[in-house]
Amino acid sequence: MAERTLAGAILTIDLDAVVANWRLLRDRVAPATCAAVVKADAYGLGVDHVAPALLRAGCRRFFVATGEEAIALRKLLVDASDQQTEESAWPVIAVLGGVLPGVEAMFIANDLVPVLNSLDDIAMWSAEAGKRGRPLPAIIHLDTGMSRLGLPPGEVDVLATELERLAGIELHAWMSHLACADEPEHSLNRQQLEEFEAALARLPPAPTSFANSSGIFLGRAWHGDVVRPGVALYGGHPHPGRIDSEPNPMAQVVHLEGRILQVREIDRHRTVGYGASHRADDRRRIATVAAGYADGLLRSMSNTGSGVLSGARVPIVGRVSMDLITVDVTDAPDAAVYPGAKVTLIGDDAPIDVVARDAGTIGYEVLTALGRRYHRVYLGGAAA
Ligand SMILES: *Cc1c(COP(=O)(O)O)cnc(C)c1O
Repeated sequence: MAERTLAGAILTIDLDAVVANWRLLRDRVAPATCAAVVKADAYGLGVDHVAPALLRAGCRRFFVATGEEAIALRKLLVDASDQQTEESAWPVIAVLGGVLPGVEAMFIANDLVPVLNSLDDIAMWSAEAGKRGRPLPAIIHLDTGMSRLGLPPGEVDVLATELERLAGIELHAWMSHLACADEPEHSLNRQQLEEFEAALARLPPAPTSFANSSGIFLGRAWHGDVVRPGVALYGGHPHPGRIDSEPNPMAQVVHLEGRILQVREIDRHRTVGYGASHRADDRRRIATVAAGYADGLLRSMSNTGSGVLSGARVPIVGRVSMDLITVDVTDAPDAAVYPGAKVTLIGDDAPIDVVARDAGTIGYEVLTALGRRYHRVYLGGAAA
């Protein structure tokens, strides 16, 4: 991480906003439980800051993608908890990618809950429980339409008729995952719910977990007992296709500012950047800003993205290069355009979903691409 004074760009992450977003979702889904998905370094924002802040706010269930992330998170949460944490308040860490053969002991030693994604996974975990002579916790994932992870329908049928396969498994939840939750009108949302409910009716009772961030906004029928929001905690709009018509209920978490390194006037017809992909149609003022694709400003924002300088929108002109972008600051107030001035690249005036749309991608990718070279500032997150 760069020193603030030396940094070309400054990334500010508002932990109070993350906590406010978690509380908003928690209140919305009550009496269901609100977990937090903190995989991929809390979507690029820094799990070592985000997870302790959520723990202090009362979050007791966390989801990560891999065993490695889970073990690192367990250390973080142990360090962040006070000594008197009651057994019942011990945070649960679930691993979406499941338990690969050979790492069972590490899962058990770190008190991790694997998501079992196949009959083979179930057999392995059940055998491990048998070997240890005690039940082992797990979540079982039923595939209802993602065709990515989870028991496919054929395996659900087998499980439903051979329940002895669950021997030794302390079932934390039946889980499934929605494919189109961000499009509330999509027919797959109800279809998946019906397939999930039909499967549950043939299986032993246990808590259920279905909704991701957008799934929470589909309504109570999709909540089950434990919801698993990720991107909404970090300020993502639950309906990114409706950013122009629906206000975002989530608070903005990320603020990214890039410093101007140099300013120049260019004449009509002069081109800007690699590939000469932008040509000035008039005399223009161009500012060069110290952040590029190596910092996660996606190259697809070339000639489509924009920043904000003193309230004026300043379009990215020319290609995004590794360390630099060029923005047309002709319409910004003169006094705001000088070397060292900060252009907002993500913030209240440039929300991640708008940045993502300009880049032809989704907010998730914008967040997880955020680079390591920024000076990072964390706001808030103190004890609740
Ligand atoms: C990543 C993930 C989530 C969180 O999804 P968001 O859309 O970020 O809320 C929930 N469940 C599963 C299985 C995931 O992989």
